[in-house]
Amino acid sequence: MNLDQPIFELPICDVCNKPVEYMDGRNDINFDARIFRVKCHGEVQEVTLTALTMLDCEITVGRAFVRERLK
Ligand SMILES: [Zn+2]
Repeated sequence: MNLDQPIFELPICDVCNKPVEYMDGRNDINFDARIFRVKCHGEVQEVTLTALTMLDCEITVGRAFVRERLK
């Protein structure tokens, strides 16, 4: 067991193709949601998950900073 590991898995940054530098989460009581914040390559991205979303599906840590790709 490696105690240096974070509690949750860090998402992979889609720009750097490696785990993001920093991630935290806080509860938003007003909206009954949890806000995750990731920081990487000088950018910060916030993702809000509502309680309903978390009940409906299994949360998996994916990729951060995914750009919308033009087709
Ligand atoms: Zn990055």
